Amino acid sequence: MKKIILLLGVLCISVVSKAQDVKTTCNNINNLNTAILNGSIKRRDAAVQFKTLIEQLKKTGDKTQPSGWLFPLKGYKSSAIGGTNGNGYSDKGYNFLDGNKHAAHPAHDIFINDRNQDCLDDRTHQPVDVLAVDDGIVIACANEWEPVSNLRGGKFIWIYHPAQNIFTYYAHNQAIFVKPGDEVKQGQKIAVVGRTGYNAYKKRSPTHLHFSAFKLVDDLPVPYNPYLQLKKAKTL
Ligand SMILES: [Zn+2]
Repeated sequence: MKKIILLLGVLCISVVSKAQDVKTTCNNINNLNTAILNGSIKRRDAAVQFKTLIEQLKKTGDKTQPSGWLFPLKGYKSSAIGGTNGNGYSDKGYNFLDGNKHAAHPAHDIFINDRNQDCLDDRTHQPVDVLAVDDGIVIACANEWEPVSNLRGGKFIWIYHPAQNIFTYYAHNQAIFVKPGDEVKQGQKIAVVGRTGYNAYKKRSPTHLHFSAFKLVDDLPVPYNPYLQLKKAKTL
């Protein structure tokens, strides 16, 4: 009996310390991401640190079978994606290590019905929920943004999806409800759509979610076009 209790105790401690490790790793990635955005770290140092941290995270991630995605906006489908057949996506010249000064638009803007720009859906008069497209873990976010800020993402979230070894990125939110280290399930409400971010805040910008997907190439995030995944996604 004593042995069983001891074994259970060891198991509990290892589960708790594993969770603690994941939290620490995610907080470190978040701090690094902030430094990259602010341009306060050299590119080479940032690359080395990112690779080390992502290797730690890969070891701790639970590999569930990947399923199809869920569309990231509740009440909307792929017809809300800007451009024609997803041509709003352009990754030429983009580099994650360029931070806030990055070029291109490696993303799809998904527009909500908000003519008066109050961040409420004109049909429901409610905020629009931003949903995690798949199971994952939050590795970075910003839950504060002021209109004087030149940061373009506003209140954003990065999620790592261990099953597919990819990241998804959700920007311009009005409010976010997760923090680094949080595990999220597919369809979980992680934010509500907003107008935060240097350009998204301006009157000329219709209210939208800026959504990106990144794969890991040599352990650094490289964007890819997720248009087909978004088109095929289930909707809520
Ligand atoms: Zn965008």
